Amino acid sequence: MPTGLIVKALSGYYYVLADDAQMTEAVQCRARGIFKKRGISPLVGDRVVYGLTENGEGTVDEILPRSSELIRPPVANIDLAVLVFSVTEPALNLPLLDKFLVHTESAGLDTLICLTKHDLMSGGSSPDGVSKELAPVVRLYESIGYPMLVTSAKEGIGVSEVYDRLAGRIGVVAGQSGVGKSSLLNAMVPGLSLETNEISMKLGRGKHTTRHVELIRLQNGGLIADTPGFSQLDFLQVDAEGLSGAFREFAPYAAACRFRGCLHLHEPGCKVQEAKEAGHIAASRYDHYIQFLNEIKDKKRRY
Ligand code: GDP
Ligand code: ZN
Repeated sequence: MPTGLIVKALSGYYYVLADDAQMTEAVQCRARGIFKKRGISPLVGDRVVYGLTENGEGTVDEILPRSSELIRPPVANIDLAVLVFSVTEPALNLPLLDKFLVHTESAGLDTLICLTKHDLMSGGSSPDGVSKELAPVVRLYESIGYPMLVTSAKEGIGVSEVYDRLAGRIGVVAGQSGVGKSSLLNAMVPGLSLETNEISMKLGRGKHTTRHVELIRLQNGGLIADTPGFSQLDFLQVDAEGLSGAFREFAPYAAACRFRGCLHLHEPGCKVQEAKEAGHIAASRYDHYIQFLNEIKDKKRRY
């Protein structure tokens, strides 16, 4: 039986791109009734076994095991979350970035951070082309192990680097409204023209109204969801211990804390607090950790 990848779901049909490279058009498939009975439905991004029917259509017969499953947008098997933040307009929001990172860490997603609208930065550039004001931010996140790219869709800067990171992978972009997600995708994919803010404002409607999800094929074998992912996050899924684990750079220190299950608040012998005092852990990251910890505790109280 042939295998393939669901690249689009629309009106009860699943569009399966065959693994067989000879077939370049996606096959329009219905899902077998058995899925409904089991209460599962195929997702865009699913790798599936499918069969062809006489009328040139097909059926999705089996869903292969998923490596990940995102709820918004509903896409399976994401390899890379592209977290999009503008350096200005709206202002760079580091608490939200750290929150997104908690989310991607706990979902086990690989992450690329894109800082967009770099053309709007003043204040001169450092030798690698990053403005002086941003350089410490880039250094911080790269030191933790998160690749960060500075881009400008307007000037075409950094766009091909984002494209290259998607080679052979399935990606999704996430970020607040207005940070430049659609502009970045449009700049990356020839022929794509997702509505950007000016256009949707001119037409007097909000963007991203009832749209279906589709994976856009890139020339380098990559695929990217044409619809943005999470823009705000809830911490219902993450508990206090999970939160600490999601701050990667805490790990070597947390392992040496005096108490097991140390939450790095005021516990004696806490190596994370010591590392923060000594400047080995950035104060901003630690502060956001405490802020999120309180949010999680508040939530628990309320439910
Ligand atoms: P989205 O809501 O995240 O998809 O953001 P859009 O792509 O719609 O962009 C929001 C606004 O920012 C639009 O007015 C874009 O023209 C503008 N914008 C996007 N990227 C850039 C950029 O690199 N430089 C500048 N100066 N403006 C940009
Ligand atoms: Zn501790």
